This record gives sequence, structure tokens and C-alpha cells, in this order.
Amino acid sequence: MKREFIFLGPPACGKGTQTNTLSEYLKLPHVDTGSLLRAEIKNETEAGKEAKSYIDKGQLVPVELVTRIIKNRLSQDDCKNGYILDGFPRSTEQAEQLTKMNEEIDKGIETRFSAIYFDIDTNLLVERIVNRRSCPVCGEIYNLLSKPPKVEGHCDKDGAELTQRKDDTREVAQSRFDTYNKETAPLVEYYTKKGVLKSIDANGTIEEVWERLLKVIND
Ligand code: AMP
Repeated sequence: MKREFIFLGPPACGKGTQTNTLSEYLKLPHVDTGSLLRAEIKNETEAGKEAKSYIDKGQLVPVELVTRIIKNRLSQDDCKNGYILDGFPRSTEQAEQLTKMNEEIDKGIETRFSAIYFDIDTNLLVERIVNRRSCPVCGEIYNLLSKPPKVEGHCDKDGAELTQRKDDTREVAQSRFDTYNKETAPLVEYYTKKGVLKSIDANGTIEEVWERLLKVIND
């Protein structure tokens, strides 16, 4: 059966770290809209140029743009057994677009859809954001306070120089929380009503949250 996961939660709630691990564990691709958009910006595509001004302000990029990118990605062969979607949908409109594209892509296939919600105390998240670093090569995420790399400034896995996201500043972080509360938080109720929401306590260490995640993915 094709397994389809979406992950919901505020910025820096730990979704990226856990979805990376889950992707290796379930051997399903981790599809992360933020990274796909940042790649478009790096490659200076038309989509990237359009997305940049929204990302720099912590706002959502237009729904048509992000839907096109996601539909293209989910139609690829490596998603045929399922996917772990991180950062999409981020609004009710995007959720409806996702249902539509799944209906098209999954015609005649048996699927199971789950929305995993990271329930977390948001007070500490701005500190997490400003201390976040990531590897531009493998995508591994570090935190200077809670998960520093073994060698300062370099990825443990491949030695690449770690980078900081341009939108991981205090000012943009605040705007991203506002956008989350207004646009994305209503999806918790939306997917609860559909009977597909699984909530996990996302406070605690990476290992503790991973154990809780493992318990709910096969429920
Ligand atoms: P993230 O890496 O998930 O924190 O996303 C970084 C930024 O990319 C967000 O603040 C938005 O500007 C943009 N973005 C990512 N995913 C979406 C989406 N599904 N819809 C609209 N904008 C998005």
C-alpha cells in the first residue's frame, strides 16, 4: 500500500530532523517544499526569482507556484510507494490542492494518508531558529546549542561547510510564526475532522520525539 505522510507544526518544531530520519527508516522520499524552493532560488529559475521575495519576508509563496513544484515532485517515480511531505500543505487551499493531485496521481492505487502534528511549546523556537545550521550537501540539520557538529562549522556526515538559512533571523522568524498561526495552524482541525491526524508531543530530545513518532506511524 502507498503510504503518504504530511507533517504539520510551527517553524523549527523538529519536523525536518525527524522527517530526514523517517525517510531513511521507511525508505520513502522526504519532500521538503522549503528546500525545493531554496534550490529554485539557487538555480536562479523564474520560480526561484518569484519565490525569493516571499521567503525573505517569511510569507507564503503563491499557491500556484508551490503546487506546481510539488505536483511535479510527487509525480516522479521514486514517490510511487509513498512520500513524506514536509512544509506542504501550509494552508487550507493547499490542502485542497493536495487532495486533488493525490486523486490524479493515485488513480486505482490503494493508499493510506496520515497527517502527523508536532505539538510543541513555541516559546523556545526562536532560539532554535537562530542557532540552526544545515548541510547544503546532505541536508543534515544541526543546532549550535542542542546538536552541534563534531567539528565546528562542518557536517559530521560529509565534512561540507554548514550554512545558515537567510530567513533564520529573529525578525523573519517572527513573521514566519505569524504566517503559521494564521494560515497553517487551522490545518490541525481540518485533518482532525477528516480523521487522519496523529498528534505527537514534540517537546524533548530528538531521540524522545523519534520514539513517539515511531509509535504513531503504524497506528
Ligand atoms: P521552511 O523551509 O519549510 O521553513 O520554508 C521556508 C519558506 O519557504 C517559508 O517561510 C515560505 O516562505 C516558503 N514555503 C515553504 N513551503 C511553502 C508552502 N507550502 N507554501 C508557501 N510557501 C512555502
